Amino acid sequence: MTPSRGRILCIEDNHVNWRLVERLLAQAGFETHWAPEGLQGFQMARELLPDLILLDINLPGLSGFEIATKIRQQPELATVPLVALTAKTQRSDRETALVAGCSGFIPKPIDPFRFVEQVSAYLEGRQDRVDQAREGQVLRQFNQQVVEHLESQLRDAQDANRKLVEAQEALESRNRTLSDLLELSRSLLGEREPRALLERILKALVPALGLTQASAYHMDSSGGFLEGLRLSRGAVAALPLLPVDAPLPRLLLGQEGSGPLLGEQLHHSRFWDPGLEIGIWAAPCQACLVPFRDRSDPGTFWGFLALARAHDRPFLPREEELVALHSGMCQAGLENATLIVSLNESSRALGSSYERLESAYLDLQTTRTALGQKERQAVLGELFLGMAKRLERPVFTLQRESAVLAGLFSSPQDPGPRVCREEAPRAIQELRSACGQIDSLLKALIRRSGRESPATPEWLDLHDLLLQEMEFLEAEGVLPEGVEVKWALEAGDRLLHGVYGDFAGLLSRLVAHATGGPQPSPVIWIRSSSDGGLFRLEIQDEGGPILPESLGGAFEPFTGLRSPEAVLGLRRPGEGLPACAQILSAYQGRASIRNEGDGTLVELQLSLR
Ligand code: MN
Repeated sequence: MTPSRGRILCIEDNHVNWRLVERLLAQAGFETHWAPEGLQGFQMARELLPDLILLDINLPGLSGFEIATKIRQQPELATVPLVALTAKTQRSDRETALVAGCSGFIPKPIDPFRFVEQVSAYLEGRQDRVDQAREGQVLRQFNQQVVEHLESQLRDAQDANRKLVEAQEALESRNRTLSDLLELSRSLLGEREPRALLERILKALVPALGLTQASAYHMDSSGGFLEGLRLSRGAVAALPLLPVDAPLPRLLLGQEGSGPLLGEQLHHSRFWDPGLEIGIWAAPCQACLVPFRDRSDPGTFWGFLALARAHDRPFLPREEELVALHSGMCQAGLENATLIVSLNESSRALGSSYERLESAYLDLQTTRTALGQKERQAVLGELFLGMAKRLERPVFTLQRESAVLAGLFSSPQDPGPRVCREEAPRAIQELRSACGQIDSLLKALIRRSGRESPATPEWLDLHDLLLQEMEFLEAEGVLPEGVEVKWALEAGDRLLHGVYGDFAGLLSRLVAHATGGPQPSPVIWIRSSSDGGLFRLEIQDEGGPILPESLGGAFEPFTGLRSPEAVLGLRRPGEGLPACAQILSAYQGRASIRNEGDGTLVELQLSLR
């Protein structure tokens, strides 16, 4: 890169001029810089400290003369050659440039063949001068020019300020309008009645636009008519129904677009006369027509809004915008109202289908109950069969032994069976035992039939009681279907003097515990053993373990209420266990529970003495 012949700053607002200056100077080996505006040029001059400044006089904002004065007031720029570039070729302008501080002047348009030479001359120190005699006059002229320019700038500033104030007022009014609109849209949210909705829109628009009357029509739910209302002189009135095939709706139906139609455009449109006919405007007036169209389906026509006001008050763009905003809101409100109505219908439809569902569910439950009853009947049938079988043996014994006894007491001449007298005590013993078995079975049946006698203690065979009661529990459904009971009754001593119902209740509670876990136990074991006057009963299940901290309180009343498992959905000790503990304490017995295998094991100990 060759060393530059000098650094030149050109302050020029015209881009084309600048390109020419740049080309000529760059070709001649100068370093060039450009500022398109006076104050920016001044700033660049301070930073660049150029070897020469070319200054256009006719600049926007501060003129070239003013910039020249400003540059000259900077000490570091006081001696930089400053050359005016101007089309103003009159002598007074040249003199003004010199008075303002320029070293000289190059006329526009630039002469490309002489330009570099002209610039070089000023670089080398050329300094044009004003005629001494004229200097005072030129200075005065320059001052006057500056003052005039300042005045014009002041006027511009005042003008700009006025426009700013106007713009601000417009903005404020717009802001007010928007907050009114916002308020209106909030209040419209809950409005489902198209008529009430339209009335509110009209009541907002009439004062905001100074309307003489405002009308609104909306499609009737049948789709055959438009219902309308009008606000005029503060009073709302319903309008006659307008058939969809009346001229104005028909025209609107056939046309797309939802923007307001107003002023001359409306006056000369095909909508004008049909509008006159139905009285939504009256000549002469300024009118505005806004169709309501579905926002998601512009082909769907919902109705329209018609506004009218004095002939000498044409609608301003701002007002047109206001109308568009209101009608948009109105449309949204109408759509919402329709949506809400259809939602209500859907929710009613849902409600009735839910009712149908509910009745179907009830039917299902009835069927299930009936099925359950059938099963119950089957189980009961088995129960009776079991009882009949159990009765078979004692009844057979009764028959056989009564025959033995009958033989004993028959006459010696009788050719029937001869029985030895020594057999009598045994036969009587067998009879008694058989009667006892039948008696206990009958008692059990009577108890279960609900005609239980008051709790009187009696001698109970605990094994018989357990087996018998389990059959009842199965029949009653306390023992869930599918649960297998595995017995291991091995107690030799099992006769206990007590109240039958106590032990029946004990068993049913233990079974409820064993089968009451979240995962039903598929099997429960019932084991018994006896040792030195102690009867031991175990009930074990596979219904899942219980939190160890809850096992301790399993036989204490009310612990279930504050147990953490209730929250966690885990298995809890059976609710009947505390009652078991109470029954046992009446018989000097005790109970314990522990986790065992896949479930729990409850152990009871009873003293038989
Ligand atoms: Mn210019």
